[in-house]
Amino acid sequence: MEMQIDSQKPVLVTGATGYVAGWVVKRLLEKGLTVRATVRDPSNEGRLAYLRALAEGTKGTIEFFGADLLEKGSFDEAMQGCGVVLHIASPYIASVKDPQRELIDPALNGTRNVLEAVNRTESVTRVVLTSSCAAIFGSSADLANTPNGVFNEEVWNTTSSLTDGAYSYSKTLAEREAWKIHDAQSRWRLVVVNPPGVFGPGIRMHENAESFRILTSFVDGTFASGVPDIRIGFVDVRDVAEAHLRAAFLPNASGRNIISGHNSGFVELAGLVKREFPAIRVSDRKLPKWLLWLVGPILNSALTRRFISRNVGHPWRADNRKSIEELGMTYRPLDETFRDHIEQLMKSGSIKAAA
Ligand code: NAP
Repeated sequence: MEMQIDSQKPVLVTGATGYVAGWVVKRLLEKGLTVRATVRDPSNEGRLAYLRALAEGTKGTIEFFGADLLEKGSFDEAMQGCGVVLHIASPYIASVKDPQRELIDPALNGTRNVLEAVNRTESVTRVVLTSSCAAIFGSSADLANTPNGVFNEEVWNTTSSLTDGAYSYSKTLAEREAWKIHDAQSRWRLVVVNPPGVFGPGIRMHENAESFRILTSFVDGTFASGVPDIRIGFVDVRDVAEAHLRAAFLPNASGRNIISGHNSGFVELAGLVKREFPAIRVSDRKLPKWLLWLVGPILNSALTRRFISRNVGHPWRADNRKSIEELGMTYRPLDETFRDHIEQLMKSGSIKAAA
């Protein structure tokens, strides 16, 4: 499986300042490519210095462009002459006050804006969209309605809404819109990457990224007496970046692609943290569902009673065979992902491990 990379044409990456995008940018630069990196504020040199540094010692070049998902025509200038567009930017926030404004508008209108620019830019032949397993399932309970008892690329999230699982709803609407715009033309191919929970060290500390927030709750004492029995897939951020490159440059890459390393869950994660970092106060005991049902909504606005009843204690399984067979993916072991990520949290000093 040979990637075919035309290093003469620049590659566009939307939302280069993000956690996942950082590793994608690094890998593209290592391949000697010119990366057109869109960011909301290109004048903030200090915030971009770590991305500029990634190009040092590589044959690649990074150029920054200002673009906002909410502004029509915002991506046109950066896209001129690009062969491949990687659309990664989209807000990933679990707890929001105004889901329409904070999640749906940037996800959906942003995807529309980027793909309308693609339609206007003749040089683009491939678009990689960072969707999510959130566009495949709304709750773990949805597994019961899958044809073979497993989430695969045929399955769509039909249960999330603006008021229940707004982030998952935003990813579902955005991916559906992308396929709609794609299907109305024949010049460019759309390849979609659908990861579940992404973890592993960031290129820098992305303390505001949701993946960092979730992992922080496993080291700061939040789960000292037990964890909710939530099962989910995990994948290393470095593997997700590799999947983006393969989706961009493998001639036969196509369709949706579940990029999930392991069917796992919070109990396994807590057990792993306990084993690898004995000083951290975390328990891998399952918190009783009735207790969560009572106190969950008070502890965290995302832990609604509906969420608890449809996720806690339910199995979760995704089929990653397409990614292995068609993209040639291999996946890092979970302990490497979490060890490296927790070490980054500890070293940053921003996390006080509850020892
Ligand atoms: P992140 O670090 O929070 O990155 C989100 C990115 O989106 C940031 O670069 C942010 O820019 C940009 N963005 C948000 N609103 C924008 C707007 N209005 N205009 C322009 N850019 C905007 O989160 P992440 O985890 O890397 O997520 C990246 C992608 O991966 C998203 O599409 C997410 O849905 C997907 N994904 C993530 C996971 C996961 O577990 N992390 C799993 C599956 C899929 P600023 O830096 O300027 O805020």
